[in-house]
Amino acid sequence: MKKIAVIGAGTMGNGIAHVFAQYQLQVNLIDTSSVALEKALANIAKNLDRQINKGIISNEDKTATLQKITCFTNIELGVQDVDLIVEAATENSEVKKSIFQQMDQFAKPECILASNTSSISITSLANATQRPNKVIGMHFMNPVPVMKLVEIINGEATDAETTNTIVALTEAIKKVPCVVKDAPGFIANRILMPMINEAVYAFSEGISDANTIDTIMKFGMAHPMGPLQLADYIGLDVCKNILTIMQEGFNDTKYAPCPLLVEMVNAGKLGVKSGEGFYKY
Ligand code: NAD
Repeated sequence: MKKIAVIGAGTMGNGIAHVFAQYQLQVNLIDTSSVALEKALANIAKNLDRQINKGIISNEDKTATLQKITCFTNIELGVQDVDLIVEAATENSEVKKSIFQQMDQFAKPECILASNTSSISITSLANATQRPNKVIGMHFMNPVPVMKLVEIINGEATDAETTNTIVALTEAIKKVPCVVKDAPGFIANRILMPMINEAVYAFSEGISDANTIDTIMKFGMAHPMGPLQLADYIGLDVCKNILTIMQEGFNDTKYAPCPLLVEMVNAGKLGVKSGEGFYKY
């Protein structure tokens, strides 16, 4: 692996580009929005400064990392000569399928096509291409430069060579790969989201206030952040969507989002990104 394209330069895409570039890989960062690309570069520079202040990297490392990233607004130009593409565009099945078709059309035949999706079936994305054996999930956690886990999701047709290549790459960028099968919510969200949903129920029933619920999980279960605060950071809309996808995928109402969560999303209370969720920001 020498050259990687990242499609989508939002929250996750800029973190993924940052980490690959930090480990000396050439990165083509692609987004349809040039404003998103500008913001992504500024964010990467800010996060590199944070790493300098913590003594993790040097000023020279920052310069070298930024030099490895080239921005594109056109998928065709950005994916032509890369060995891997990680798609991190908006969580929408139709948007992603159309991007996978373009990736398949314009990338080299041996290029691996990965998605950072939180919940969309990898097999369904693979079926939008002519190379389903080379399609895989590469689910990074937010914030990408800090979080160690990469959940690697095999679609029905993903071959062993593809999985092994992605596991080796994940280790090379000093992250921890965990390989799972394709199922709604994979593993991380299948376990996390019902916990968040239950915390929302406890809060909505007035069993306790948000801070107490979070404190119980922090100090009782050694979680670094309580479930309601974490939901605010993830985005309440994102939590609601993932729960709905699991409810539909398993055909089981136990995953149905708590009515309060739905109400808050409808009221525009999305968490940190909107300035208010279970807490004010
Ligand atoms: P985001 O909204 O911050 O960024 C998405 C970016 O994709 C935007 O900049 C948008 O302009 C771009 N985009 C949309 N359509 C495009 C297209 N056709 N071609 C190129 N670029 C396009 O979203 P995000 O939070 O970074 O999420 C991206 C993906 O990562 C989603 O699949 C999401 O489920 C997944 N994910 C998110 C988190 C999280 O905590 N935010 C965690 C893990 C996985």
